[in-house]
Amino acid sequence: MQVVYSPAHLGHDTTLETFMGMPVPANEVAERAERIRVRLDEDGGFGLVPPTEHGEAPITAVHDPGLVRFLEVAWSELRAQGIVRPFLSADTYPNRAMFEGMSEAAVAAMAREPVHAGGRAGFWGLDSAAPLVAGTFVAARAAVDVALTTVDLVLGGEAAAYGLCRPPGHHAARSMYGGYCFFNNAAIAAEAIVTATGERVAILDVDYHHGNGSQGIFWRRGDVRYVSIHADPDTDYPYFLGRADETGEGDGAGENVNLPLPPGTGNAAYLAAVDRALEAIAAVPGSVVVISLGFDTYGLDPIGSFALTTDVYHEIGRRTAALGRRLVILQEGGYHRPSLGENARAWLRGVEGRPFDPLPPAGFGPSGAVAG
Ligand SMILES: [Zn+2]
Repeated sequence: MQVVYSPAHLGHDTTLETFMGMPVPANEVAERAERIRVRLDEDGGFGLVPPTEHGEAPITAVHDPGLVRFLEVAWSELRAQGIVRPFLSADTYPNRAMFEGMSEAAVAAMAREPVHAGGRAGFWGLDSAAPLVAGTFVAARAAVDVALTTVDLVLGGEAAAYGLCRPPGHHAARSMYGGYCFFNNAAIAAEAIVTATGERVAILDVDYHHGNGSQGIFWRRGDVRYVSIHADPDTDYPYFLGRADETGEGDGAGENVNLPLPPGTGNAAYLAAVDRALEAIAAVPGSVVVISLGFDTYGLDPIGSFALTTDVYHEIGRRTAALGRRLVILQEGGYHRPSLGENARAWLRGVEGRPFDPLPPAGFGPSGAVAG
């Protein structure tokens, strides 16, 4: 299988993030993608290819141009405003209660994008869990090109291809970044496929978290079915979306399928949800499925509560390929760094119908740093 990878992600060199107001070591770090790249290389059955430049039009096909402009200048503006921080995080978010009692027209007129970098980050951001650094915009643009090049490979005839996207994307909505995500790689890919083929497209989101951004972007769309298996938002980020009764509106009524699962979910219950998700995809026409692939469902993941094991990823990949549709597989989350490469390798070998034989740990030193 072809693996699309860009070293531009290394510029998004996060070391800290904010959790409930306090700086903590970052979870979404460059080492994640490097671990996967090294392990797939060790496998010997995957070919690494660079992305090609696709420009900004596919991004603004699903995102507000204002979000693109903000992300492009956010870091330089932070510095120009004399704000010395290791990363940009918002100061104030426009909580809906701030505008309570005002008419929609009044809110539209008053809730303008401010000038202060901390205010602008609040205007465009969902949360404080998406640290923005000097290289974030270039990395996020490259992740989109990785996703779109993966689409090109599949539309060009490959049965499946894997885009090693970093930063991830599924929490980014049309006018909002957040949750480690800046541009919604999977949504941009789905939109590009719809445009190129005129077919319906399905997104299967198997990240631990609900992909609120993907759901929102296609909420009223009848041509993109979004199916997500994730932790119950009562207990996990993004808290305010992801429930089973969110099914879409208008042309999108019935096209949004959320399958929330409780903390502690193990292999058997998860596989049952995978079968339900695949049935929901098989029920609609289309020849391509976009996979939002996360490994924060793994038992040792530091921010997830599920209990999946590496061998079950091989089985999920196998069952997904058995749909008989072409697969655009895009990396989302997964934060237990030592297992990431092996979990990705298991999933992708499952898709290819190759058996899974675990490899010993290799390629990384005891400190966890990238070898070389
Ligand atoms: Zn996640």
